Amino acid sequence: MIIEKYGKHFDYSLIDRNTGWRLQTIAERSIDGLNLGKIKESIYCPVCGGNDSDNIIEIYSFTYSKCLHCELVYLPEISNAEKLKEMYLNNDQELQKSPGDDLINSDNFRARVDLICKPKIDFILENTKYKNPKWVDFGCGVGDFVMAASEKGCEAVGYDIDNREVEHGQMNGSNIFCKDINENNAKEIVGLADIVSFISVLEHIPNCSSVLDMVVNASKGDANFIIEVPRFNSVSSLINLNFNDKVSRHMLPPNHVMLFTDNAFRYMLRKVGLKIDAVWYYGMDINELFGTLLLNKASRFLDIGDLKTLLNEMQLTLDKSKLCDEMLVVCSKDRSME
Ligand SMILES: [Zn+2]
Repeated sequence: MIIEKYGKHFDYSLIDRNTGWRLQTIAERSIDGLNLGKIKESIYCPVCGGNDSDNIIEIYSFTYSKCLHCELVYLPEISNAEKLKEMYLNNDQELQKSPGDDLINSDNFRARVDLICKPKIDFILENTKYKNPKWVDFGCGVGDFVMAASEKGCEAVGYDIDNREVEHGQMNGSNIFCKDINENNAKEIVGLADIVSFISVLEHIPNCSSVLDMVVNASKGDANFIIEVPRFNSVSSLINLNFNDKVSRHMLPPNHVMLFTDNAFRYMLRKVGLKIDAVWYYGMDINELFGTLLLNKASRFLDIGDLKTLLNEMQLTLDKSKLCDEMLVVCSKDRSME
């Protein structure tokens, strides 16, 4: 039986992405998208390897399509793979806005640890057999998640290829290192881990399925795998589709190479030999909705009171309907497939 949980309270006063942030991000991301889209290369579906898809929408010169075989929503044409990796490695000087900019420049590290990460750690520990697990966080970014896990009694370590984010996290006391996990070192890094996590990571990796496969193969039999990914069947997608010149997150190319449908996600897990134990559904759809609508300058004539106080309740309704834009999934190796 799969355990399901819905809704995650968010304190909008602590991490505030207001209209100014949104306008600036839209401007910078659209320029970066257009630049990074100048040289593209074709890829097969990152999950099933298929080559047939229906085009959905063009955003900043990239086209999201839906795989006709596994239903993954992805970019069949992406920036050159080396270029994409460079974007994280060197924080390409040509970029208006690098992927980690908000995490480093403006977000409150402490608030992220307590508000965003610790509830996720609690959910994970509730749904695994481990109390003080050895934990490896893959693509740890600034290490807020690793910090939260450490403070909850876990033996946690994180790895990322973005040196700037790693240095920022280390300065904040997080046990993280700048290292690329690959075929040669995977066993050494994750071989003894009780828990391996991929928090908002797989959607950035054009060969996500084979990377996950590599880590699963290098891990021990009773390890748990934690995966957080963006959901395509969400209100945030609907908003991005309707306002495709005002995208600041979610369907954001080329960073988000893909978004998952439930079918595509299950397909990927079957392929690498994992099964789902528990899922937490949550998101920022309602914030996305009003954040986008309020970009219209005429909205200042409306008196809509303190909309912020209603966001959590409205979002919970979407979460319960699984129309939310994120999910956090606890997985384990599927013994029935051995
Ligand atoms: Zn596919």
